[in-house]
Amino acid sequence: MNPERHARALALLRRFYGYGSFRPGQAEIVDAVAGGRDAMVLMPTGGGKSLCYQLPALLSDGLCIVISPLIALMDDQVTALLANGIPAVAVHSNRPESETREALEQARLGRVKLLYTSPERFVADIDKWARTLPVKLIAIDEAHCISQWGHDFRPVYTELSGIKSMLPSTPVIALTATADRLTRDDIEQQLALRDPFRWTGSFDRPNISIEVRPDPGKARRIARVRELVGKYPDDSGIVYCLSRSKAESMTQALRLSGINAVCYHAGMPAAAREEAQRAFINGDVSVVCATVAFGMGIDKSNIRWVVHNNMPANIESYYQEIGRAGRDGLPAEAVMFHSVGDAIALRRFIDDSDSSRRGINTEKLARMQAFADAAVCRRRMLLSYFNEEMTRDCGNCDVCRSAPVRFDGTTVVQKALSAVLRTDCRVGAYMLRDILRGAQRHDIRSRGFDRIRTFGAGADLSAAEWNYYISQMIQLGLLDVAYDDGNRLHPTPFGMRVVRGEERVMLAQYTEERQRGRDQSRPAAATAPASSTEALFARLKAVRRAEAARIKMPPYLIFSDASLKDMAMKRPRTLEEFREVSGAGEVKTARFGPLFLSAIAEFA
Ligand code: ADP
Ligand code: ZN
Repeated sequence: MNPERHARALALLRRFYGYGSFRPGQAEIVDAVAGGRDAMVLMPTGGGKSLCYQLPALLSDGLCIVISPLIALMDDQVTALLANGIPAVAVHSNRPESETREALEQARLGRVKLLYTSPERFVADIDKWARTLPVKLIAIDEAHCISQWGHDFRPVYTELSGIKSMLPSTPVIALTATADRLTRDDIEQQLALRDPFRWTGSFDRPNISIEVRPDPGKARRIARVRELVGKYPDDSGIVYCLSRSKAESMTQALRLSGINAVCYHAGMPAAAREEAQRAFINGDVSVVCATVAFGMGIDKSNIRWVVHNNMPANIESYYQEIGRAGRDGLPAEAVMFHSVGDAIALRRFIDDSDSSRRGINTEKLARMQAFADAAVCRRRMLLSYFNEEMTRDCGNCDVCRSAPVRFDGTTVVQKALSAVLRTDCRVGAYMLRDILRGAQRHDIRSRGFDRIRTFGAGADLSAAEWNYYISQMIQLGLLDVAYDDGNRLHPTPFGMRVVRGEERVMLAQYTEERQRGRDQSRPAAATAPASSTEALFARLKAVRRAEAARIKMPPYLIFSDASLKDMAMKRPRTLEEFREVSGAGEVKTARFGPLFLSAIAEFA
């Protein structure tokens, strides 16, 4: 990755979109496309595909033409871009010709960054546009429409196949959320993409085997690394450490045991860092011991294993870091060691950090800890964390390999989920447990939950058993925790299918032994409620609704729910602090910041 370009892209991301970091894949794709390469992008819906061509457009001195099959979506995107201060236009048949002429004139003058159009219009006009407009990039959204293998074939898309011969020097980026291998190949072939940068962004990486272990001590950790080096002598691996000094001492220890390792962290001089990275990429050394500073933009396909000497601060980082292994799709290994010490150290980092991030970081650390402690398929937990559904165990993680005794837990799940539904999803994990057990709690009676049919329906199980099973239901993706809404539980679509008896689930049997050493008094995912944040969030939504009506703009284009939640959590007091809210770019901060700041001040 080109570091200078990456820095510029990050600055634009903050300035125009108000986001502090890239989603998985975005940085790499933006870099490749801005560098003039074709690209084939598969990303789940909501993964953030739009940025993959919008940022290269902002980085260039010209125009990006975006081909999109849906007129409504086009207009929406243009409105969203304009709200962020990015000049964009849409050219399609629902627009009066006079408007279109004006839009094209603006584009000709170099005053437009993105021009959205339909495939029909593109095919009809591209000859003319290529001569008159400063076209620097073509983005083809919903690119699977070109393929008969895809689920949504549209004949007009096939006329795009001449695109590379029409504009041989203009990079083309094809994007889709739903293409299998066959369809992807077909898209590339039909568009005649040249050596495209490929990104395949389902969150699942089935070729990476996952193992999580309590820290067995340094000697055993080193032995494990030696074993991996021995197993993959021609390939390489990364050892992630929590601190610079730990990275250094681990490097020394590995060298002493005869392994060709280098160290990498942000405290090293730039030249030494570059040299370490170069040696690793070229394969001159096989192991790098690094802090999290290492890895961004490392596109090395033969990294076979990643060892975490310590627990990372959150699941996103963990997944990103293990994802550096096995880019070639071949079997790869991820091993994580964790200890109470890690959790304490991470806790301290959070407490010392910027107050606005504390709540959310604490939450994320709790999820990471729950992942480390869990007794369910690791991959299912990870994917359900990223809201991807997986209804079967993976068979390629330590839990799957030494499986706990399982039983058909369908009835247990049905009892719990029916209780949740009968309270209208107004309970958290503790209260759910107590309702199921028929506990005499004042707040259960006062809210009438002792009169629902499932009250006491689970009295045959102990509180510890319910804790364990409810945790599993969360980790298996049957129940979702609304962290922004008092940790209330909601059945997921998968959970609903189980309630309706359409699917069965296996649960890990509770045994005293498995639970020993764990906190038995509470389910893993249940942490402090956030009731005033919740109230502020509701207030901010009302403010947004009123403003949307006043300026006649869809509410979600003012700020997304995610932005309002972030706002409610961070509670900015100044415009400067407001800029830290996710989604608050320069233009939106100036336009809407004062309004929301005064709502927050009033609330306080
Ligand atoms: P897709 O087209 O892949 O379905 P979008 O491009 O519409 O997804 O992005 C989905 C949502 O995620 C949008 O609200 C977008 O603003 C947001 N988003 C995209 N990239 C980021 C990022 N790096 N950080 C935070 N939010 C992002
Ligand atoms: Zn598994």
